[in-house]
Amino acid sequence: MNKMKKILAACLLAMPLLALTKPAAAELSVFACEPEWGALAKELGGDQVSVYNATTAFQDPHHIQARPSLIAKLRRADLLVCTGSQLEIGWLPVLLRQAGNTRVQPGQPGNFAATDFVTTLEKPVSVDRSQGDVHPGGNPHIQSDPRNMAKVAKALAATLAQIDGAHAADYAARYRDFDQRWQAAMQRWAQQAAPLRGVKVVVHHKAWVYLMDWLGMEEVATLEAKPGVPPSAAHLAEVLKQLKHQPAKMVIRAAYQEGRPDEWLSNHAHIPAVVLPFTVGGTDAAADLFGLYDDTIARLLKGAQ
Ligand SMILES: [Zn+2]
Repeated sequence: MNKMKKILAACLLAMPLLALTKPAAAELSVFACEPEWGALAKELGGDQVSVYNATTAFQDPHHIQARPSLIAKLRRADLLVCTGSQLEIGWLPVLLRQAGNTRVQPGQPGNFAATDFVTTLEKPVSVDRSQGDVHPGGNPHIQSDPRNMAKVAKALAATLAQIDGAHAADYAARYRDFDQRWQAAMQRWAQQAAPLRGVKVVVHHKAWVYLMDWLGMEEVATLEAKPGVPPSAAHLAEVLKQLKHQPAKMVIRAAYQEGRPDEWLSNHAHIPAVVLPFTVGGTDAAADLFGLYDDTIARLLKGAQ
């Protein structure tokens, strides 16, 4: 078949499909601050939503530049889905101001913060910025525990139905289906992760407190002396010393984090440096929300061997 014929055949094949798809304008436009919320919105919204992820798994969600392209996307959004608890405090307020989109401003139904629907851990008694990136609402990195994801899913499905009432029944059905698959997956993960109970780890950033809580693992040290402050040589030496009488099985970091401090500790303490996806897209296997936890557990089990 020559090239022209091939194109023609492809067009003819595509035609009935095109006739079935809804016009783009009918979709609810979702702006997700982090990939895990974009993935969740897609699970729950299906064809009713178009999702834009503001960040990838290889960017530090604490520090994002408020680029014009992000502002343009937020201007057209019907729903903003973010972590909240001040994770995005360095960039989201600027975006919101510049976008001037009333639908997604704080207090509106189109402004959804995931941490509003879970119990956050590590809520500081007092907030002192000299202590680094300390978040007054508690540790924002809730996505490392799938039980949090279940709670956020329920709330997000309700929000989708509220904003797009015409498709409320679709969102409810999708949520029921997702929740069933999620509950089954959580049982499987709990079984697979049983050997991780009590395992001691060093973490790069205080980003895994919910994961530790979920799997019964223990964080014995952090490479960042203060959250968000890059590990110093002096602090690394201290951690190494600490490991002599309180050994750890591995040192873990997110896919976006610079790995040199981890590799240094790995070489000196003779423990593996483990990279976890942290969010959807952080590794090839973490292609969706289910893959995110499948791969996280697989990597932790390998590290703990
Ligand atoms: Zn953080």
